[in-house]
Amino acid sequence: MRAIKYIVVHCTATPTTATIESIKRYWKEVLKWKNPGYHYIIKRNGEIVCINPEENISNGVGGHNRYSIHVSYIGGADAHGKPLDNRTDEQKQALFDKLVELSKKYPEATILGHRDFSPDKNGNGIIEYFEWIKGCPSFDVREWLDSYTPALSNAA
Ligand SMILES: [Zn+2]
Repeated sequence: MRAIKYIVVHCTATPTTATIESIKRYWKEVLKWKNPGYHYIIKRNGEIVCINPEENISNGVGGHNRYSIHVSYIGGADAHGKPLDNRTDEQKQALFDKLVELSKKYPEATILGHRDFSPDKNGNGIIEYFEWIKGCPSFDVREWLDSYTPALSNAA
């Protein structure tokens, strides 16, 4: 088993209508990535799709992938591509459950948002991938985990 140091939360920074297939195509054909960007993608309806087994490396945060698990939700940007936490209730619940599950499996791992790794803009005048998703996942993961109360589906 890989030693896992970080469980990293991402957003796809796409329109909320983006499909997993279109996201995978973008990585492969535009960015020319060999590995997927995440291990799990959470759809708008809360369905969690594994796109890369945890044993494999995903291309989520440059320089930290060897010991990271990456979980992303579809969304995280407004119509102009600006960071926006537009997670559905179903996505919040699914993300919370997945993070609980992963942290039990990897008790040594720290849960972080992608932006918690972000360097400042490098000022080279080129808008690079890590710069335009620097708001990823568009919310403060640790603050959210501290305050999140799972919805009770069987509440009277
Ligand atoms: Zn990210």
